[in-house]
Parts: sequence; C-alpha cells; structure tokens
Amino acid sequence: MSGDTETPDPKRNLDAIRERIAAAARDAGRDAAEITLIAVAKKHGRERILPALDAGHRDFGENRVQEAAAKWPELKAARNGVRLHMIGPLQSNKTDAACALFDAIHTLDRPKLAAALAARREKGGALPELFIQVNTGEEPQKAGVGPGEADAFIDRCREEFGLSVSGLMCIPPVEEEPSLHFALLAKIADRNGLKNLSMGMSGDFETAIAFGATHIRIGEAIFGPRARG
Ligand SMILES: *Cc1c(COP(=O)(O)O)cnc(C)c1O
Repeated sequence: MSGDTETPDPKRNLDAIRERIAAAARDAGRDAAEITLIAVAKKHGRERILPALDAGHRDFGENRVQEAAAKWPELKAARNGVRLHMIGPLQSNKTDAACALFDAIHTLDRPKLAAALAARREKGGALPELFIQVNTGEEPQKAGVGPGEADAFIDRCREEFGLSVSGLMCIPPVEEEPSLHFALLAKIADRNGLKNLSMGMSGDFETAIAFGATHIRIGEAIFGPRARG
C-alpha cells in the first residue's frame, strides 16, 4: 500500500506517536506525562480533526488566527477541554481575537505584542499561557527574538509588561542539526527559571524530548500531508 494515497488515520497515528513519546521519555529518564502533544491541525478540516477529538485528543495547534477562528469555535463548543495553541506569527492588532480563541500563544516575540497583551489584561481580559519564541538559528526570515536578546526580552515581559512567561519555543533551521538548537533553547530557559520548552516537530520530536521538550508540535505525522501554499 502506498502511504501517499492512503487516507491518514489520525487516531492510529496519535497512538503511534504516543508510543514513540513514551519510548523517548523512557530513554531520557523522563516522565511522558510531562510532555504535551500538540496536534497541529493547520490546513486540515473537520473530517481530519473530528477523529482526533473522538480519540480523546484535546491539545491542537494552529498557525493563523483567521483559519482557527473559522474552524474552532464550533469544535470547541462540541467537546469539553479542548486546548488551542497558537504556533504561528501573531500580529499585535489580532491580539484580542487570538486571546479569545487560544489557550496558549507560543509566538510572543516583540515588545509591541507584549504591550498589546498587557493592555488586554489591564482591561480585565484573560491572557493565554505565554511562550516566547526564540530564533535560535538567527534566520532573517523567521520570527522570534534572537538568542542574544532573549534574556533581556524575558525580563522586559516580566518587569515592564507584568506578563507571566510560561516557557520558550523554537523552530530550528531545516538544514541544521536540531539538537544544537534544542540545547540552546533549554539553556536560555534554564538560566531564566523557565520550565516549559515548546520544541520538536514530526521529524525531530524524539531528539527534542531528549533535550527537555515539554510541548511538542506535530502535524504531518498525525494528519498527513498538508495542501501546499
Ligand atoms: C506546521 C508547524 C508544526 C508542525 O510541523 P510538522 O512537520 O507537520 O509536524 C510545528 N510547529 C510550527 C511552528 C508549525 O508551523
């Protein structure tokens, strides 16, 4: 059977990923229960998402506010305990919409966005769990604060904006050994007293777990290939 033409089975794939998470955690001497599997559902519709919900999965990732706003209010209302994670770049003018929809934002990466989050809280609005994105590979096209500015930005989020920072997130450069980037993110988190690390995708999550990932973000290995564009 060709894997390319087969319809992906999200439930079976989730089971397989959970087994691999358990094995990677065991190898690292860690408890698999401290690792949250975020099923990245971007570009997939209800027909793929519902089987994952039916299988009991509750943490999902999206990378665009608009797409998430079209898909999730209905799905969230239909099931208890769904937690939605924003993993794509966030424009500060979409802060309120994002906060209303998402339970966690993994891409806090600049003062303007931190200020918008602080302003929302000042108006009495609830804030999602916040991860600061670090551009560990210092890639110009990629979002995230540079590794050299991370300590100062974390401080600023806490002191100037009064935000509670939960952890750090990174997306390693595709061409590079991810372990170097995972180790760097873990080091920055450690020296800033942050426990949570959002790192690891379909191709490298076992390595991420070895380096302390607490939130792994998996799309293709659960839902199959995405439409291009
Ligand atoms: C799409 C995406 C993922 C999931 O990638 P896969 O390779 O499909 O597992 C993880 N993190 C971010 C930030 C993404 O945009």
